[in-house]
Amino acid sequence: MAQNLILLGPPGAGKGTQAEFLVDVLSIAHISTGDMLRDAVGKGSQLGLKAKEYMDAGKLVPDELVVGIVRERIVEPDCAAGFLLDGFPRTIPQADALDAAIAELEVLPPVVVNMEVGDDELIGRLSGRRMCEKCGAIYHISRDGVDVGDDCPGQDCDGKIYQRSDDEAEAIRQRLEVYKQQTQPLIDHYGGKGQLVRVEATGTVEEVNGKVMAALRERGVV
Ligand code: ADP
Ligand code: AMP
Repeated sequence: MAQNLILLGPPGAGKGTQAEFLVDVLSIAHISTGDMLRDAVGKGSQLGLKAKEYMDAGKLVPDELVVGIVRERIVEPDCAAGFLLDGFPRTIPQADALDAAIAELEVLPPVVVNMEVGDDELIGRLSGRRMCEKCGAIYHISRDGVDVGDDCPGQDCDGKIYQRSDDEAEAIRQRLEVYKQQTQPLIDHYGGKGQLVRVEATGTVEEVNGKVMAALRERGVV
């Protein structure tokens, strides 16, 4: 049966960065609710119009909206070989809705990788995060030497680098608070069901990658 994964962790833990690598190695679909919502905002769709004010303020978009897009996405054909959820679920009601959808689809319960990083490191990562507007690649000003307005260093990409509006100091503070109140309880939720693996997500991107792969190997996922 196809293996499904969830990357859990605070904003800035490196979920998107590790997801890029993992979906490639495991040949599974990448489902980032943050990317889907940013795309909707960019297109000015109904969903985007509803989500924008929450996102800019560093708050969570209402559960029913996010659960709706994930329910539709996980039944798409490319998810049959497995999927990796990045940034979902983020609340207990979202996790309950996912549990129900997984049971209905009769697929394997996801292995949940909890990426642990301390607050000071998270703030440094988020405030220096830069993205490509075109390919969505994730960079950091110190590690990658790119800043707003530069050309994307990605191969075959002619996009420009931008900074997410929610990576500004007040929104970062708000998102870390929201994480502690609404998302952290998911550690016990999945821990209690035996689905959780813990990874200390510090060190270089490559080192974290090695730790995630080792944890997945231990669980028999790879
Ligand atoms: P998340 O998806 O969990 O919010 P990202 O993957 O977007 O986190 O990473 C946040 C920022 O931290 C980005 O600028 C990324 O380049 C940087 N980053 C990711 N992993 C590491 C790491 N192991 N060490 C240092 N910086 C990292
Ligand atoms: P991310 O790219 O994962 O950091 O998400 C960016 C923003 O999108 C979050 O701060 C929320 O406003 C919104 N968002 C992403 N995923 C979810 C989710 N599962 N539930 C609610 N809001 C979300």
